[in-house]
Amino acid sequence: MFDVVIIGAGLSGLQAAYSAKNAGLKVVVVEARNRVGGKVWTVPLASGRGYADLGAAWINDELQKRVTAYARQFGLKTTKQRLEGKAVMQLSGDERFEFPFGITPEFSPEETKNLEYIRDHIQAKSLRSEPPLPEDDSVTIEQYLLKLGAGPKTLAMVNVWAKAMHGLEIDQYSAAWFIDYCRTNCGLLSVRADDHTGGNYMRFEKGAQQLPNGLAKLIGEEDIRLNEPIASIQDHQDHVTVTTTTGNTYTARKCILSIPSTLYKDINIFPKLPLPVQDVTNNTVLGHYNKSIVCYNTPWWRKKEFNGFFVSYGGGPVAIARDSSVDEIGYYSLTCFVNGRPGEKWGNSYPHERRAAVLNQLAAIFNAEPDSELWRPLEIFEQVWQHERYSKGALAPVHALGHYTKYAAFYGKPVGNLHFVGTEYSREWKGYMEGALCSGEIGAQEVIDTLKQGPTAKL
Ligand SMILES: Cc1cc2nc3c(=O)[nH]c(=O)nc-3n(C[C@H](O)[C@H](O)[C@H](O)COP(=O)(O)OP(=O)(O)OC[C@H]3O[C@@H](n4cnc5c(N)ncnc54)[C@H](O)[C@@H]3O)c2cc1C
Repeated sequence: MFDVVIIGAGLSGLQAAYSAKNAGLKVVVVEARNRVGGKVWTVPLASGRGYADLGAAWINDELQKRVTAYARQFGLKTTKQRLEGKAVMQLSGDERFEFPFGITPEFSPEETKNLEYIRDHIQAKSLRSEPPLPEDDSVTIEQYLLKLGAGPKTLAMVNVWAKAMHGLEIDQYSAAWFIDYCRTNCGLLSVRADDHTGGNYMRFEKGAQQLPNGLAKLIGEEDIRLNEPIASIQDHQDHVTVTTTTGNTYTARKCILSIPSTLYKDINIFPKLPLPVQDVTNNTVLGHYNKSIVCYNTPWWRKKEFNGFFVSYGGGPVAIARDSSVDEIGYYSLTCFVNGRPGEKWGNSYPHERRAAVLNQLAAIFNAEPDSELWRPLEIFEQVWQHERYSKGALAPVHALGHYTKYAAFYGKPVGNLHFVGTEYSREWKGYMEGALCSGEIGAQEVIDTLKQGPTAKL
């Protein structure tokens, strides 16, 4: 019998396993996919010209201590986000303007004032350490902003932020959830920032996958069972049995479930989770959060003095894009986030349509000529996370209206021998790799503490 069986080998599950193992517990990690990492997934270019991060990519070595510690421990090289150059805002297919990166784009004075007022309001609120308020949880972000007097341009801009952050739109989730998400990530401005104050500051030269791979080695690859989707969990009070679709059964004193809460309903859990836990987790949703990574021989957009960053209200499916090159190894790419409702449509279209939509939008944004290198990418990677059976979307599960505050006392709290981890439960960098590690650490500690108290504890 194991002390703890951990379901899922994403970063939260791996961290939980590593912390538990370090405390002397006998662990096993059971993972559905044929790889570790979950929503961290790096693939090499066929041309050997670099690595594409289909999931998580950006980190911050000043604000994210766990990710940074592993990066140093594993000796991983990083590169800073390149900021020099002009950014572009696209309003519609043929309406676009360029602006110096890092400033509020020049709308009319009233529109700029309105946008800055709303931005400063959310920023201030997300820096206050108060619990999310039920009255903000019962309204959508859009309703909340309208009450504050947000104009159409401001609503459109916050909608781009929401799509870029969660793959959802401002009429789809609560203001309290959005604000509290920013709260766990050092405030709204930090979530959006590409410099040392924010979450989009650095990337790994050879991709983020090196993190879960490194952690898996620390745990011991023999304790991680791949290709073993969990079908059921049975809590027998003094132990737990976990059965896989491949017919294997794992028996342990405790179980840590590290899959996104939206997927709990896919597993047969017995006895059933308490009704409040079922209600909250059955109703979390995952956004349409897709990447199109277009790789080139040279960073042609820089010759035109663009830095590769753009935001778009319309004119194509991409909401936001960044230069994701690693100059140090000669890898040049634009990472386009195709999120929210346009992302859903894009994800369901044919591959050639998806590529055409992205390339045509890039051409309009960067004023590309017919003979531009834009039309001759080396490789294109497309990742639709909603189509991944063991993710079903990204970034992190988002609560139904009102549920975030209504079920705060139940959400993520242990039930019998079952403990829950995942980036969604973190109070630090929720939604990020750092949040996954943080939650894994806390979940393991819960198990360690409970087993210490038990009569048969080995600690
Ligand atoms: C496109 C994209 C971009 C992102 N960008 C960034 C970024 O720049 N920076 C950043 O820090 N974060 C980013 N993230 C978020 C980051 O990837 C996640 O926060 C983090 O990886 C989540 O880890 P987790 O362990 O909570 O969940 P997951 O990674 O989802 O792990 C859950 C694991 O459970 C497994 N599983 C599911 N069902 C079963 C089952 N039935 N049986 C067994 N195993 C199962 C899954 O296969 C998976 O391995 C991004 C995510 C995406 C998708």
